[in-house]
Amino acid sequence: MIQQMKEGGAAAAPVPNPLSEVSSPPTPSVTSDPPRSPYPRPSASPFISEDQFACHCCYDILVNPTTLNCGHSFCRHCLALWWESSRKTECPECREKWEGFPKVNILLRDAVERLFSEVVGRRRAEIQGNPKISQSLLAFQRYGDQAARGIPKTSPGRGAGGFFSGVLTALTCVAVMLLVYHWSSGDGVHDLLVSKPVSKWTPEEVLFWLEHLGPWTSLYKEPFLQENVNGRLLLMLGDEELTRAPYNIDNQAHRRAVLAELERIKELGVKPPQNLWEYKAVNAGKSLFLLYALKSSPRLTILYLYLFDYSETFLPFLHTCCPALSHTSEPIEDSLPLNHQVHPTWRQWAEFLVKYLLLPYQLIAEFAWDWLSVHYWTSRFIIVNAMLLSVLEGCVLWRFYNRAEIRSLHKKMWGHFWRMSSQGFAFALFWPVIPQFVCNCLFYWALYFNPIINIDLVVQQLMHPDTQGP
Ligand SMILES: [Zn+2]
Ligand SMILES: [Zn+2]
Repeated sequence: MIQQMKEGGAAAAPVPNPLSEVSSPPTPSVTSDPPRSPYPRPSASPFISEDQFACHCCYDILVNPTTLNCGHSFCRHCLALWWESSRKTECPECREKWEGFPKVNILLRDAVERLFSEVVGRRRAEIQGNPKISQSLLAFQRYGDQAARGIPKTSPGRGAGGFFSGVLTALTCVAVMLLVYHWSSGDGVHDLLVSKPVSKWTPEEVLFWLEHLGPWTSLYKEPFLQENVNGRLLLMLGDEELTRAPYNIDNQAHRRAVLAELERIKELGVKPPQNLWEYKAVNAGKSLFLLYALKSSPRLTILYLYLFDYSETFLPFLHTCCPALSHTSEPIEDSLPLNHQVHPTWRQWAEFLVKYLLLPYQLIAEFAWDWLSVHYWTSRFIIVNAMLLSVLEGCVLWRFYNRAEIRSLHKKMWGHFWRMSSQGFAFALFWPVIPQFVCNCLFYWALYFNPIINIDLVVQQLMHPDTQGP
């Protein structure tokens, strides 16, 4: 077609016509046979060069030129790569937004292909041989298909989407029921003990404390009940009293465990938190912070705990996730919290560090696994969520690798670090003024609803691995 235009131009040009001068003899059939070009190799002509048909992205000859609203043309794959990396629908040159989905400029494509068939053929082969470019082109085309159907690009596939939204609705209902159950089951009494001074405990509360030490305490409940042991009396009990009647705790390990717990409550003045709800009642802000921080950035959060909360939180966490081998031979597991203050062995450190670097969510799952007997459903929610988050992290890394953005990873990590730090700082600043009710909602939302949302995200990722944004 360009040949036609060129010929037309050459014929119309009045006097100084260099084209006709270059090869004036073989032009007998200009009018009779217009499509046949008299110039078999136009690229040899000084007036038409490859530069004039160069893409302003790759500065090579245009392949599948795609013209935008602004009039600029680019190779289609250059445009696809630009779109994929920037996620912007704008011209790479003048930054004007394009409307709809840009199409290949057929006229220009055919012209360039005829003028520079060799170069274009070579470039086409190169592009087809590059899997990364092919993938971007495919993703770009999918985006175009979705745009044509009027579906926003982040929406999941319709086919299976209906099924999954049904499952999600059902799961949401279950979560809401669990929440209502939890709220209505009144953990008030249990929460009270962690903030009520031991000296004011009633005999029932003392029994409740004893039960919490473990199933082995059922042997000794009866004497406590008969003696009407209240908090004040409990504080007076020592090794001698427990050995003799009426308590008769003859098992030395059991007696040691009870005494150790007694020491702890004497020290704290209240019952130490022994499950998630008690922990939350005592450390409302910290539990909310940990829940959100571990979810969005487990490595940074664990590092934070190591640096600023070593003995109270980090050590018990490490001992729970990577227990020392010697601990397994101990007769009473319930005395473990005290052993959590010993320094970890190098073997524990090695195991912890490997998991920390490769699968940090796995650590959280193992921690929750340890609490399965105490929190049947909550632990399961946490474990499932940890697995989903691991999958999502894997997807993100896979996308980085696929888009060859692994080199920019350190920049993203740095940005992530600053974002997390500023969010943590903002939380510490505003935490005291947030109403308790809002905190509770956020806490339960992160605990029970976040896994459900993550199921949806994982399904989207697995169904559309290429088209998801970063
Ligand atoms: Zn290009
Ligand atoms: Zn432009």
